[in-house]
Amino acid sequence: MKPPLLESPTESNADQAMMILRCPWCGERPENEFHCGGTSHIQRPALDCSDETWCDYLFNRDNPCGPHAERWRHTFGCGQWFNMLRDTATHEIHAVYAMTEARPDLATGNPP
Ligand SMILES: [Zn+2]
Repeated sequence: MKPPLLESPTESNADQAMMILRCPWCGERPENEFHCGGTSHIQRPALDCSDETWCDYLFNRDNPCGPHAERWRHTFGCGQWFNMLRDTATHEIHAVYAMTEARPDLATGNPP
């Protein structure tokens, strides 16, 4: 049995709006100017940690359906990195904040 033919990217994305992201330095820009660098706030374990801990640090990430803290870079703009708290299910952006800031607490609206 043959697999179904895929639509061309142009056809399959024709009815979808591009996500607009807000760079803290440049303002709102289309998503194709940005690059997602993965999960934010991952702490590197001590160098004398177990192999299991080191592998967990390198390879295992949460994959939440909901709010997720991510690192983003405005690659085709100012080139700056920043954090974004984005809902992975709805793409709602809850917060954009500096790399040095703690993840905002959605319940209180403030950093912990
Ligand atoms: Zn920028």
